[in-house]
Amino acid sequence: MSILYHTTGIVLSKRDWRESDRVYSVLTQEHGKIEMVARGARKPLAKLSPHLEFCAEVELLIVHGRVHETVAGVERKRSFVGLYDSLTKSLVAHHVLQLVDLGTHEREVDRFLYEEVKNFLIFLHKAPDLTSERAAFVLSAFALKLLSLLGYRPELNFCLQCLNQIKPGEFHWHALKGGVVCRACIEADKEQWFSARLLSDDVLKLMRFALSERFADLLRPRLSGEILDQYHEAVEALLVAHFPTIPATTLRVACNL
Ligand SMILES: [Zn+2]
Repeated sequence: MSILYHTTGIVLSKRDWRESDRVYSVLTQEHGKIEMVARGARKPLAKLSPHLEFCAEVELLIVHGRVHETVAGVERKRSFVGLYDSLTKSLVAHHVLQLVDLGTHEREVDRFLYEEVKNFLIFLHKAPDLTSERAAFVLSAFALKLLSLLGYRPELNFCLQCLNQIKPGEFHWHALKGGVVCRACIEADKEQWFSARLLSDDVLKLMRFALSERFADLLRPRLSGEILDQYHEAVEALLVAHFPTIPATTLRVACNL
């Protein structure tokens, strides 16, 4: 027996399926991430697909079948048209949605995550055009916030081992263990911490900023090349260590035109 239901969501990704259909991965408010089939979505006169391929929050009418969820109706609730002002902004949106798709499992309801993704798209919709450097910084900041929401919040203030507050210049970074470790703890157990890496105070400050500030404030700090390189390296090492699937493109070059 098929059941019809309504839900609100944001399309994360799509892939072609069978001869003329398409499968959409959608982050919904009420059911977490779901996959749904749009019949005939690749035909020239398809009615539903234009609404599903434009970045927006949509109201969906879905048929819950024995094998698949199939979309029966779609209505735009909120459009993020400002994303299409610039190629860089659309690239950031694309990669953010892809990160959410890669980092989440189906049917795990998380309203905070839903709100965070929606707020990010609203921010980007209103934001001025971004340089590729700023875009990459913003994308990695989103990745840090996403990691936190998924349960991998990096420890940026207290030593992972002794729990004491770390002092400037007296710590290393360990992506797999998820945070900073003080020099004394490394000295005490070199074997355990042998893969800990040096991280500068400025990079740690930038990571704290990216993790704690609102999206709009990410447009403020001045970005310098060397600090950014280390910042991206640290965020990407966290993704590699904790994400179920690793993004195909590194975040630092994802927004290069
Ligand atoms: Zn310590």
